[in-house]
Amino acid sequence: MYQEIIMDHSKDPRNFRALSEATGSAEGFNPFCGDRVKVEVLLDQTGSELQEIGYQGEGCSICMASASMMCEEVEKGKVSEISQVIENFRAMMQDECDSAVFEDSDIEALAGVKKFPVRIKCALLAWMALRDALSDAGVKS
Ligand code: ZN
Repeated sequence: MYQEIIMDHSKDPRNFRALSEATGSAEGFNPFCGDRVKVEVLLDQTGSELQEIGYQGEGCSICMASASMMCEEVEKGKVSEISQVIENFRAMMQDECDSAVFEDSDIEALAGVKKFPVRIKCALLAWMALRDALSDAGVKS
């Protein structure tokens, strides 16, 4: 079941595209697996809402699925809340909190990845790139 959700996102990634206009971008590289991800964000005029997010890159299915789920989760969201979502995901992957924080989202399917320590970096890569992209767009963390 969880495996299926991950495969679905990696085969049919959401938001896998370059944005025509972006206010921030960042790239991440995971040398342990060879995953590369570039995340672009477009904030609204006031810088308080994430209007559009896209990612590009190549990597393993966990990395690609995680990026896809992340975009679905944060697009159209309030910038002030996205840092908390990123922090919740990091905490879930590092086993510091329960996966119940994402119980209504496909993201919960990634909770199983934490049993495989080498894959945790794969799952976190896009999220760290998103944090950097927001910072590039002028968001104070
Ligand atoms: Zn990987």
